[in-house]
Amino acid sequence: MYWRSSTDGWFSTKSSVQMIQKDKGHSKSEVKWIWDLDCTPKVKHFVWRLSKNGLPTKEKLQQRRIAVPMQCVFCNHHTENTAHLFLECSVVRDTLQRVNENFLKHSISISGINRDEKTILNILKDKLGMQQMSKLAVAWWSVWYFRNQIIFNNNTTCDATNIAEFIN
Ligand SMILES: [Zn+2]
Repeated sequence: MYWRSSTDGWFSTKSSVQMIQKDKGHSKSEVKWIWDLDCTPKVKHFVWRLSKNGLPTKEKLQQRRIAVPMQCVFCNHHTENTAHLFLECSVVRDTLQRVNENFLKHSISISGINRDEKTILNILKDKLGMQQMSKLAVAWWSVWYFRNQIIFNNNTTCDATNIAEFIN
């Protein structure tokens, strides 16, 4: 149920302590703001699903004993889970950087911390504000869309430039 840190990910104790202190006031269940994002309903539903750790990532499928190749389709290196796919993957980070520099900055500051999805979303929403959070939601939805294109439609032209152009 947690966004897991990658084994080789950079980790700062100081920044994580600051982060935890900062978000102490949050109730985990307070993600109703998702429905107020400036996005289409399908993007809102996607973020809602993400907040409940309900996306069928490869790690999730394996936990349900469904045999799939575990590697992330973008970097072909790390295990695909929510933390990797939306915060830590080098290709996804490259994409986020192209869309908005703040996305990358905050993704880096927040990755490597074992927090549940709702708390991560709340921290990011507070850092970015609703307008930028809406854009990040679209960016994440697009990452998931391209990920599915690669897996199910064998579309191999999905690099960071393509995804960022699609988002913008
Ligand atoms: Zn990756």
